[in-house]
Amino acid sequence: MAVVSSLYRYPVKGLSALALPQVALAASAPFPFDRVFGLARPGTIFDRTDPQWAKKGLFVMLMLDEALARITTELDVATRRMTVSKDGRHVAHADLDDEAGRAELENLIWTLLPALPAPPTLLASRAGHFMDKPDNVISLINLATVRSLEERWGYPINPLRFRANIYIDGIAPWEEFDWVGSDIAIGGVTFTVDRKNGRCGATNVNPETAVRDLNIPQALRTDFGHKDLGVYLIARNAGSLAAGDAVSPPQSHHTSAENGRSADVMPNSFMCRGCFYIYEETKGAPQHGIPPGTAFTSIAENWRCPDCDTDKAAFRPYTETKPA
Ligand code: FE
Repeated sequence: MAVVSSLYRYPVKGLSALALPQVALAASAPFPFDRVFGLARPGTIFDRTDPQWAKKGLFVMLMLDEALARITTELDVATRRMTVSKDGRHVAHADLDDEAGRAELENLIWTLLPALPAPPTLLASRAGHFMDKPDNVISLINLATVRSLEERWGYPINPLRFRANIYIDGIAPWEEFDWVGSDIAIGGVTFTVDRKNGRCGATNVNPETAVRDLNIPQALRTDFGHKDLGVYLIARNAGSLAAGDAVSPPQSHHTSAENGRSADVMPNSFMCRGCFYIYEETKGAPQHGIPPGTAFTSIAENWRCPDCDTDKAAFRPYTETKPA
């Protein structure tokens, strides 16, 4: 039987996971208190009183700043007090509503990231979040898929690399991809499985050692012709879910015998060298304002990868060779 293995929130973008025994969700809302704080890179412009969602390149984040994984943070979302530990020792206890507390945290992050010209700025979203994607999606990882990759590739893969909200077990590897476009029930909540989750270089960072020791997007791209792992959900009703709750797959769904493999040939495609995102001219990037059918050469030269913010100039033509 499929069940929820664990639930996590990440109160500060790029910082520690906090396990939750249960959570109450609202319809179409994000996972509560997930990425409600972010650390803006020095020099970025935000309205500090009401900062709005922005793409990840404007924040300190694991994809670029793997040293963030060297500290462990615990945030009490009710009191907004954060405890920071490093090498098993408490190094700070800061009140995020207090100017001095925020400055203490910002300076501590700067000591981890000395290449920054100044401390980052801690921002608190008033009503939204600083997740990688602007819409209110909740991320799900199937542990069986992660185990199948460990067996296939021959090395351990800590599932927390994928920084999901909901981890489930008890279904077949890749079965979650067959659910896209359908509804599932978890505990007291029905979710629409909205889309697959294209992974970025944040997954390359080992959450236990803060070392960038794998290349997950590249390994997926090489082996399966895509860089997707896990899916994004949208909550359809208010309700609670808890670790141990049953997961009810869609009543009927199409099945993919391809184990998550994507189409074989993609003409007129261009791949980001930073994160292996592929721009397909036929599909465009409608979520980012580029209509289907837009030639790559017609996209503005200051356009950047929607997944990792790499320059357009760093894309190269991509022709997929069908995996063996
Ligand atoms: Fe990219």
